[in-house]
Amino acid sequence: MALIIDGNAISKQIRDGIKCEIEGLRHKFGRGPGLAVILVGDNPASQLYVGRKSKACSEVGIYSEVKKFPGEISESVLIDLIEELNRDKTIDGILVQLPLPEHINEHRIMEAISPQKDVDGLNPVNIGNLVLNCATLVPCTAAGIIELIQRSVKEIKGKHSVIIGRSNIVGKPTALMLLHHHSTVTICHSRTKNLNEIAKQADILVAALGRPKFITRDMVKEGVIAIDVGINRVDGKLWGDFDFEGVKEVASAITPVPGGVGPMTVAMLLKNTLLAYKSNYKIFP
Ligand code: NDP
Repeated sequence: MALIIDGNAISKQIRDGIKCEIEGLRHKFGRGPGLAVILVGDNPASQLYVGRKSKACSEVGIYSEVKKFPGEISESVLIDLIEELNRDKTIDGILVQLPLPEHINEHRIMEAISPQKDVDGLNPVNIGNLVLNCATLVPCTAAGIIELIQRSVKEIKGKHSVIIGRSNIVGKPTALMLLHHHSTVTICHSRTKNLNEIAKQADILVAALGRPKFITRDMVKEGVIAIDVGINRVDGKLWGDFDFEGVKEVASAITPVPGGVGPMTVAMLLKNTLLAYKSNYKIFP
């Protein structure tokens, strides 16, 4: 039977550490970290995630403000707002909740965020630093996946990691981070021909495709470490990309949905906000 990797418990340990550190720093610098979250439109999932992020901020002592805009907002108005936040000395981190409406160019928005305040790690400068393995602010879900593996099953070095999904937000940064941890990495996507065959070679299998129960028991190797990023709502219930019940019978470790990668993404956002705040005071990791 697989180890069920408890993302809630691991994220709590991290959040407790962050809270403690912020208390000390607030005393020293007279203020805690500040995060601005920009929410465009009325996507219910985005509203839910933003609500969770704000709550998590207040629990660890991060000041947060949510700036809500109707879906029709123009790209230039959004960029003006980001530039204003870039100049705001009380705001250390800026997060634009994705996805954005189609008329807004996501790349230009990410580019507008100051790299020092880019707590989602998606500004091209931070992505470049990630490629060079010298990034401080890295995409939260990818960072959360690495923490989960390191704190539960530990060794990444030498393992073959297969990532299914190549998005800028999850698949690519996760592949890069696993590579920097000396894993041998294969990335699969919707045009991959022999997906089942490749998936079956994985020591670490990261599913980030957004297809409920897509990865079944017969697609994984005995002893696989199964990391489920997928969040799929079907008939009001949440499912991951793995067929959890089947895969857990053969995996050595598996993350549940909910309660696996999701809480880690939030914990890494708090960590990035703290890092951005500290670098304002010239405290570097
Ligand atoms: P995207 O839709 O941006 O990317 C999905 C990727 O999966 C694409 O690269 C796509 O390939 C690939 N894909 C889709 N179908 C298949 C298939 N049948 N076979 C192989 N590859 C396939 O999604 P995201 O990366 O943003 O998110 C992925 C999932 O993770 C979603 O369920 C999302 O809700 C969840 N998520 C969870 C987070 C968390 O904190 N737990 C955070 C962020 C996302 P191609 O590029 O060829 O189109």
